[in-house]
Amino acid sequence: MSESCLFCKIVRKEIPASIVLENEHVVAFRDIDPKAPTHVLVVPREHIATLNDVTDAAMVGHLMLAAAEIARAEGIAESGYRSVVNCGADGGQTVFHVHVHVLGGRTLNWPPG
Ligand code: AMP
Ligand code: ZN
Repeated sequence: MSESCLFCKIVRKEIPASIVLENEHVVAFRDIDPKAPTHVLVVPREHIATLNDVTDAAMVGHLMLAAAEIARAEGIAESGYRSVVNCGADGGQTVFHVHVHVLGGRTLNWPPG
């Protein structure tokens, strides 16, 4: 847990978020600045800064299974969606609490910018 981390504050419910799923391992909430009709962020309850700092293979599983569960709940599992982890400066990471973006509800471009 990190006192000042934005996503730790959301996990602790110290700041509001539109939570769509939570379990023992992860919390998922809508992105405040959505880039697609569905844009949800899945974060581990524990503070892990970046993908480089993940050591627990099971945690990756919890994050990705939650992403797929959210896609089903949002009705985009069949039409398709993207699950993305931005890592570090060149990866475009701006919040240093690791998170999986779940994006869908429109055709997504590839490659990303
Ligand atoms: P990244 O750039 O991969 O680190 O993604 C961080 C994401 O967090 C961005 O898409 C932001 O729009 C989103 N974000 C920032 N602050 C909040 C917040 N308070 N609630 C929900 N999403 C947020
Ligand atoms: Zn954190």
